[in-house]
Amino acid sequence: MTEAIDFAAELNPQQLAAATFGDGPLLVVAGAGTGKTRALVYRVAHLLGRGVPPHRILLLTFTRRASQEMLGRVARLAGGASARVHGGTFHATAHRLLRAYGPAAGLAKDFTILDQGDAEDLMGMSRAALGFGQRKSRFPKKETLHHVYSRHVNTEISVEEILRDDLPQFVELAADVKRVFASYTKRKEERNLVDYDDLLLFWVAMLEGSPELGARISALYDHVLVDEYQDTNALQARILRAMCGGHRNITVVGDDAQSIYAFRGANVRNMLDFPAQFPNTTVVALEHNYRSTQPILDVTNTVISRAHQRFTKNLFTRRTGGEPPALVAARDEHEQTSWVVDRILELHEQGTPLREMAVLFRAGYMSADLEIELTNRKIPFEKWGGLKFLEAAHVKDVLAFLRILENPRDEVSWFRVLLLLPGVGDATARSAIDLLVDREWDPRALADLIPPPRAREAHAALVSLFESLRDASADRAVPAEIAALRRMYDAILRERYDRVEPRLADLDQLEIIAAKFPSRAAFLSELALEPPSATQDLAGASGTEDDTLILSTAHSAKGREWDAVFIIWAVDGWFPSSRALRSDEEMEEERRLMYVAMTRARHHLAVLYPLNSYGSRWGSEYTIDQLSRFIDVGVRDRMRRMAAYPAPAPIGAEEQPPGTPLDLRALLRGRFGAP
Ligand code: ATP
Ligand code: MG
Repeated sequence: MTEAIDFAAELNPQQLAAATFGDGPLLVVAGAGTGKTRALVYRVAHLLGRGVPPHRILLLTFTRRASQEMLGRVARLAGGASARVHGGTFHATAHRLLRAYGPAAGLAKDFTILDQGDAEDLMGMSRAALGFGQRKSRFPKKETLHHVYSRHVNTEISVEEILRDDLPQFVELAADVKRVFASYTKRKEERNLVDYDDLLLFWVAMLEGSPELGARISALYDHVLVDEYQDTNALQARILRAMCGGHRNITVVGDDAQSIYAFRGANVRNMLDFPAQFPNTTVVALEHNYRSTQPILDVTNTVISRAHQRFTKNLFTRRTGGEPPALVAARDEHEQTSWVVDRILELHEQGTPLREMAVLFRAGYMSADLEIELTNRKIPFEKWGGLKFLEAAHVKDVLAFLRILENPRDEVSWFRVLLLLPGVGDATARSAIDLLVDREWDPRALADLIPPPRAREAHAALVSLFESLRDASADRAVPAEIAALRRMYDAILRERYDRVEPRLADLDQLEIIAAKFPSRAAFLSELALEPPSATQDLAGASGTEDDTLILSTAHSAKGREWDAVFIIWAVDGWFPSSRALRSDEEMEEERRLMYVAMTRARHHLAVLYPLNSYGSRWGSEYTIDQLSRFIDVGVRDRMRRMAAYPAPAPIGAEEQPPGTPLDLRALLRGRFGAP
């Protein structure tokens, strides 16, 4: 089928070189919108055309969405064979391999995956079990502990060093912190739990730890390709070295100017050191931007030219014409929202579909006002990043029940479920878990718990629920299980919340989604690995059919492009986030993040910043003291500066009306007999 693709007509010479490159290590370093992802898609098509069997190609991407999209494009180029190409994130691939080869490496079957929040909870339990919860002196919180732990296992920097650099107030506690980590690790093992970091760690351990197993796993693929390589960490680089040790057929593409995941241990050095790690690497650079118009590139090039460290070059485009990006001052959030919505409707009327437009922001909560307005005006939208569907308490509750059914040793889920019972606090939950541990996690042990009076009814319901789900659970479909447990849980939900309807609707949705999975295990793993940001993400109906506007965090917008992009809250302290103010490195990462956000635009770009206060500041043209520091003078000069709405003329500024002059003071004058 690939004979039909005219590679030379659809790619520029550098892209063509990358796509048709033979064997061996290949690195494509290039700026935003230069067609890196496109070159990778064509490379996969080319490999298939060369006769490489699809299941021997591994395409690693940053999100499931990205991999589906890329493979969709390969399918249009190269036909159906591409469906068997293995695509997905590093974590999803690790998971697949661990299910297949984990048992051979000592990992108990049927492990469950802890997502970030669960891992933090388990860390909290370890902390409490060692008595650090109640100490008078300060001890790091569970989130902080998990952060240090994760950084340590991902980067191999010692715990002492991480504390010294990031949390000097806790340096003295290094020994205790490590005791918590030891307990956390033991708990994971005893409970048969695997966290995100373990997925990568175990993958690398299978590759490096056992020559036979390592050889078997690395022999699965003949070609490995990685998009967004700038956001991988040292562990991922090790995985790739081991996976490709035999054939060295590895292609990675990335842009150092878009590296935005240092907080997760990603390191641009990874990409820059690639040629050293893979001797005889061929390097291809791309400089022609195909995405944005020249006025947009002028602005984005200027923003990134201020970066302290940078390796890729300025970009050029042939898309001349188009307006300079707008820099819009709004008096307040409400005006910012109105302007964005008005402009979206205007572009929509001129023929731009909603799905070709996106509103981007630094953090998920920043779109609240906009979401309300869009709902009021009945403009359909989909939100990426930010608060996830799965983070909603009621969804997590239901999943906790399912996870117990899957893995009765899942302590985190037990704890969550027990605390749902009215009047049950930490202490009662603990004693219930002790009962379970004594009976080797047999849910029937719960019957021996003496519940507080208020919990009697719910406790009985819980006991009979697990009794009823216990037998024949193997061939009961997940939706039926959800329905069964909801007979108990919905009552709790009604007790807890005033507005229960939307929550019940979420759970209905969850049942529908669950029906699409072959097993409970598959359903739970999928949810933990790729937390969907909205139910429609899982329902599979997302985006392409419906005409919906996209709202996204800058992080989740990576790799994407839209005709029109609006960046809201470009205010210092918001974007850059105030949390980044403490270090130069974090500030540099924020700058790259702004660069990522701005480079998503094809034709229209608008950057908005609300001035929170009315009055004098507004009067003096635009006050710019709140504007994001990344939009400095040089950047502003390349933008169209405007006010969202013209300032109302000051009252009374017009001419004095003619007529008899009034004397207002005369109204009161002399009333009290004063002189
Ligand atoms: P990012 O750094 O944001 O991930 P990228 O380098 O991966 O960007 P792509 O998304 O692959 O860039 O390409 C950007 C846009 O330019 C896409 O719409 C793509 O189809 C288009 N494009 C890339 N190369 C060409 C080409 N040779 N001819 C026509 N269009 C191209
Ligand atoms: Mg890309």
